[in-house]
Amino acid sequence: MKLYSTNNTDHLVDLQEAVFKGLPEDNGLYMPVDIPVLSDAFISALPNLSFAEIAFEVCKNLVGDYIPAGDLQNIIEKSINFPAPVVRLADSVGILELFHGPSLAFKDFGARFMAQLMSYFNKGNDQELVILVATSGDTGGAVAAGFLDTPGIKVVILYPSGKVSPLQEKQLTALGGNISALEVDGSFDDCQALVKKAFLDVDLRKRIRLSSANSINISRLIPQSFYYFEAYKQVVQTGKKVVFSIPSGNFGNLTAGLFAKRMGLPVHHFIAATNANRVVPDYLLSGKFSPQTSIPTISNAMDVGNPSNFARMLDLYCSTWNIMKKDISGYSYSDLETREGIKEVFDQYQYTIDPHGALGYLAFEEYKKDNSDTFGLILETAHPSKFNTEVEKITKQVVEIPERLATLANKTKLATSMPIEYDPFKSWLLDNY
Ligand SMILES: *Cc1c(COP(=O)(O)O)cnc(C)c1O
Repeated sequence: MKLYSTNNTDHLVDLQEAVFKGLPEDNGLYMPVDIPVLSDAFISALPNLSFAEIAFEVCKNLVGDYIPAGDLQNIIEKSINFPAPVVRLADSVGILELFHGPSLAFKDFGARFMAQLMSYFNKGNDQELVILVATSGDTGGAVAAGFLDTPGIKVVILYPSGKVSPLQEKQLTALGGNISALEVDGSFDDCQALVKKAFLDVDLRKRIRLSSANSINISRLIPQSFYYFEAYKQVVQTGKKVVFSIPSGNFGNLTAGLFAKRMGLPVHHFIAATNANRVVPDYLLSGKFSPQTSIPTISNAMDVGNPSNFARMLDLYCSTWNIMKKDISGYSYSDLETREGIKEVFDQYQYTIDPHGALGYLAFEEYKKDNSDTFGLILETAHPSKFNTEVEKITKQVVEIPERLATLANKTKLATSMPIEYDPFKSWLLDNY
């Protein structure tokens, strides 16, 4: 499997390099040279296949001979090991629940697959790999859970002290094993600055093998394409045209959906649902892309003013606006509307949706007005208990925290305090790895 940089299509690397590097030096994003089209026979057979079988077949076609089939099977079995069920709300709407992984968000798919792939590529290397992650909360939880007990890999998570929720903090600090947490006496930006400095430190990099678990890593996108096939298989018998409504921030999830369509999945349309951070819906309307500083909202995992995967979307459509907007429509909603969406889903269907999923719901309802022959699959990107203060105010019901997260609450926090200066951080790394 070869990949190019969106900034230089002549710059080719193989999958291993793309995974360990994350980003090309030219600041573009890695894209697969070939996105193979799967056979009609495979698409027709989807309802007879398990999620793991689908994931394996899709992945094998993308990765080619680069990873032997038995090894790939193993990677899939260890990472795609929780379900992605569709819950039907009505004749033409279903919720694709992507929160059945350990950190209760769809990011578990990407994080677990990346962990398995890195561990696989790292085999035979006697020097252990140390992954540095700066997090403002959510991504760190998925990465920590994804890399837990992965042989040959250690993870160091830097988070801003006092700026993550108590349960989020437990997700970062209570796992133990190969996961270490540094509680930085500063902001998320300070955490990021420390990580950046470490990567630029030639002396440190001679002594420790470092890598990152960045959200734009291609190994996080690949597994996200699998669940589009898995969702389609669960609703194909309705005979309706399938539309995916995707709550979006950095647009990784939507880009993975575009990969699935390129691979032959019969997706009729994509809906990009955003909160007030609406640069992509605005682009789809006007053809102009103007990044903004991000606006805080109650769907905060989507507060992104300059979505990183937009470069990949442009690349897939050869930067042609009027072709992209044939496949994707954009909708944006305020916090007030988001709350109304949560209420409507609860009152009409007795289903508790989180603020991110609510945006997907609102967008599909609006789209459906002119497209009544479609079946809408709304991506529910997080479990509602992750946003329970907001949700419970509206539904007046307690949202149960699933046991896999609730048990973490009773575990002990283990974190090392760090100032924002670089030298103590470097010494800590050298002492520990
Ligand atoms: C990360 C995240 C999103 C946004 O996903 P993108 O791939 O960045 O568009 C949406 N909802 C939740 C709950 C998330 O954690």
